[in-house]
Amino acid sequence: MENKPLKLFKKSDIIIILIFILLAGAALIPKYAKSESLTAVVTANGKEYTEISFSELNEDKYITVNGVTIKASKEGVCFEDSSCRDKICVNTGIINSPGEAAVCVPMNVAVYIKGGGSSSRNDDVDAVVY
Ligand SMILES: [Zn+2]
Repeated sequence: MENKPLKLFKKSDIIIILIFILLAGAALIPKYAKSESLTAVVTANGKEYTEISFSELNEDKYITVNGVTIKASKEGVCFEDSSCRDKICVNTGIINSPGEAAVCVPMNVAVYIKGGGSSSRNDDVDAVVY
């Protein structure tokens, strides 16, 4: 008998494992792509002023509202300049992770990062510490 069922089984096992790895990889990729597509939400006077999608950002973008200049780049968003006196907002620096926020209390301007997914917890701006 030349039958070698064990060897055959091993071969198909490897194929199954490879398919499984490929499927697992394919399932993970969209998740990573999602986390890449972040949105910066700018609010002024407690209302949403504008949204900047990082994936659509080809060059630096500046938003001016209430005497505050917000810069959006591939690295994230930051308060570039503000006419407030404390400059806490400018000193916050670049924010680029979902849930992160920078606020200028005197000028009533805030910017926060929203994840690309439909996660509702990021809609909550309770993360603001200032
Ligand atoms: Zn400020």
